[in-house]
Amino acid sequence: MAPMNLSRLCVHTMTTKPWSLTECCWHYAQAGIPHMTIWRNVLEGLDLKEAAGVVADHGLAVTSLCRGGFFPSTDTEKRAAAIDDNKRAIEQAAALGAPLVVLVCGADPGQSLEKSRKQIQEGIAGLLPFAETHDVRLAIEPLHPMYAGDRSAINTLGQANDMAEALDSPWVGIAVDVYHLWWDPDLETEIHRCGRQHNLLAFHVCDWKTPTTDLLLDRGLMGEGCIHLKKIRQWVEAAGFDGPIEVEIFSSRYWEQDQESYLRQIVEAYEEYC
Ligand code: ZN
Repeated sequence: MAPMNLSRLCVHTMTTKPWSLTECCWHYAQAGIPHMTIWRNVLEGLDLKEAAGVVADHGLAVTSLCRGGFFPSTDTEKRAAAIDDNKRAIEQAAALGAPLVVLVCGADPGQSLEKSRKQIQEGIAGLLPFAETHDVRLAIEPLHPMYAGDRSAINTLGQANDMAEALDSPWVGIAVDVYHLWWDPDLETEIHRCGRQHNLLAFHVCDWKTPTTDLLLDRGLMGEGCIHLKKIRQWVEAAGFDGPIEVEIFSSRYWEQDQESYLRQIVEAYEEYC
């Protein structure tokens, strides 16, 4: 059984990218980590029932499946293919007992952000009945504006709140990731708004390093950067969130290191800085 102080700790399989699903489960369980978020890359080539069995055998609870989304495109066929892929993600989540699929909503540099946002909203709206049938919710994850070109046209929690409220369904909410949102002067207000509307479904942590040397693969371990994690955690908890705190770090630097000692560093950083 996990020590009490780790009872809310969740690690994303992408954080320890060199490990397979089985290795993630084994090492997380050994470290006393009770929750995991599964990235779809670790499922490739695995039978879903077997994958669910591996997770259950190690006593881990699955917080989310990452990820769906990528709705916008100037190409109609690509938009349709994205819907099919999101349905597959929802089916995978259901099979793994994950109550949530996180959405990286997408953007197409060949069209305006407004048009991309419209396609995102239409895409999510079309998936809601399928999500409900599978008892899996969808979480819009606003991404830092440096990704507005091609990864997400939703870049602030305010925009995500607008969209979730417009969709107005218990099957869609929001994932708050400190890496993407820490800089926003409206963050506290928008976190409270998100909680009031019962849309705050997930909380992702890491840190923002200065300088950041890569737009995607240079996230910091908690405590390494300039994000006031404890303050933001207070805000999400004041807004009613009491779910797992998910460590999501993409870092080519950490992936090169011994993952076992890295996992110990993650647990220590979580205890000290989150
Ligand atoms: Zn995230």
